[in-house]
Amino acid sequence: MRSRQLFDRIRRSVRGWQRESRQLASRLRKPSYSRTRRALMVAGIAALVGSLLLARVAPWKWLPHESVRWGSARGNPTIDVFFSPRGHCTDSIVRELAAAKAAVLVQAYSFTSAPIARALVDAHRRGVHVQVILDKGQRSEKYSAADFLAHAGIPTMIDARHAIAHNKVIVIDGEVVLTGSFNFTEAAEDSNAENLLVVRDKAIAEKYMANWNEHAAHSEPYER
Ligand SMILES: [Zn+2]
Repeated sequence: MRSRQLFDRIRRSVRGWQRESRQLASRLRKPSYSRTRRALMVAGIAALVGSLLLARVAPWKWLPHESVRWGSARGNPTIDVFFSPRGHCTDSIVRELAAAKAAVLVQAYSFTSAPIARALVDAHRRGVHVQVILDKGQRSEKYSAADFLAHAGIPTMIDARHAIAHNKVIVIDGEVVLTGSFNFTEAAEDSNAENLLVVRDKAIAEKYMANWNEHAAHSEPYER
């Protein structure tokens, strides 16, 4: 009888021990984070991701002249961006042309901007090799930028190979590219919503120069 009671007691304590170890094992498998702790973790991760995104994107909003530097294995190209209306697109083009030393290649669709045409002629007069390709629409203008440039002695061509030759590109000294939706017109500066990128990057400039040459190959000299 005593041995029976002893056996029962041992069996109970073994079962109790088994239950405890099972509970301990399941607790170790599933760390029981409370809802508050989970919410805090999610909020922390969101804040981290948010601040990383902000660090990358914010300069576009904060800097008045939107100058952003991007790291590159090839050097440190820079990109500036300007927005019309009255966002100094024309000023920045004229400033870049005034700094041109060797060569300027232009592709333009609509071209009525007197300050930009004058800046091209000024560059040509101080010995910069300026060449211009324009859309065929320039032929039907009364006194177009094409006339102004051609009369100043700038090699001026018409690209009539396309429905419209719609590029607006200026490549300066093989390293600066000005492009965007911005046509070289007063309306683009004063009335329209446009953008202009000023990209300083030799590799990008090479691509634009190659494209300029492709169009030059099937363009004709402008004649009036
Ligand atoms: Zn073409």
